[in-house]
Amino acid sequence: MSWQGSGQMLLFPQATAPRKGRGRTRTTPRDRFTSNQAVIPELFDPNPPTRQARLCVLGSGSSGNASVLNIADDTEPARLLLIDAGLGPRTVAKRLAGTGATVQDIQALCVTHLDRDHFSPTWISTLVRERITVFVHRGHLRQLERVPGSERLIAAGLIEAIDQDGVTVDIAAGLRARTALLPHDRTGSAGYVFELVETTRSNTNQPTRIGYATDVGRVTDAMLDHLTGVDLLAIESNYDPAMQQNSARPESLKRRVMGGWGHLSNEQAFDAIQTLAGRCPRGGPRRIVLLHRSRQCNHPDAIHRVLSHNPQLAARVTLSDQSQRSGWLTVR
Ligand SMILES: [Zn+2]
Repeated sequence: MSWQGSGQMLLFPQATAPRKGRGRTRTTPRDRFTSNQAVIPELFDPNPPTRQARLCVLGSGSSGNASVLNIADDTEPARLLLIDAGLGPRTVAKRLAGTGATVQDIQALCVTHLDRDHFSPTWISTLVRERITVFVHRGHLRQLERVPGSERLIAAGLIEAIDQDGVTVDIAAGLRARTALLPHDRTGSAGYVFELVETTRSNTNQPTRIGYATDVGRVTDAMLDHLTGVDLLAIESNYDPAMQQNSARPESLKRRVMGGWGHLSNEQAFDAIQTLAGRCPRGGPRRIVLLHRSRQCNHPDAIHRVLSHNPQLAARVTLSDQSQRSGWLTVR
């Protein structure tokens, strides 16, 4: 089957059932103010809304990656965006246990790239049954087409391509995203910036932004530009260079990881975080979570050594783990 869609939506005649999460409008007090009114947020909104972004890394590492972003308010049923599906649906269900959210609450899936540790074909039946739309960077469509079972997603009209870098796409009610293709292997990894349009940062009427960048060969200016201004940053901190160098891994693998098309070292991630913090007048991301820590070539102590150069930033950092979920990381 060929990809026939034009623009962002790929349309297939079989696609009749409604997609999750779309077409629901929400009225907030802020909606009463139209865009041509001069609004000084501090004057009419002394107490910022309680609505907040909440990210939980369900697991991260070379054995599988998955995170959920809850875009619902504390008082509402969860509405989740799944970011990467490299842990299968059963594992995700287990990791969600006790969070108040379930697999049935997933509204959409955004995939960074199609390596097996970021998209597992075991998800396809669940995606079809739950009518969860899969968003991929347009540059990854062909690879997705080659995933066994993907024809079921195509037939159900559940694949949507995010166009080339910088275009903002509606993901679900209240949530939009843009991507930048970051260097990783041959086809790259999509770095996301999610905007929760119904949330506000304190003292501004800007949406809360969450940056998500994993499997990045090197930090580029384009990547830094993309992630500038995010409130919460999830970024990989894959390896310690000495541990990588001294590991028993084949030289070819070391070259792949460290050669600019593999992963970020702890130092590279830290430098990127510092640069982003320096670019932002309010001090940069208020919460940071480090992803994809190599079990063989990294250690929390090695990461903490690097972070100790900037205690102020270090205090904002959470380490994710392969085998257990993080807490809910919030940004107000
Ligand atoms: Zn990976």
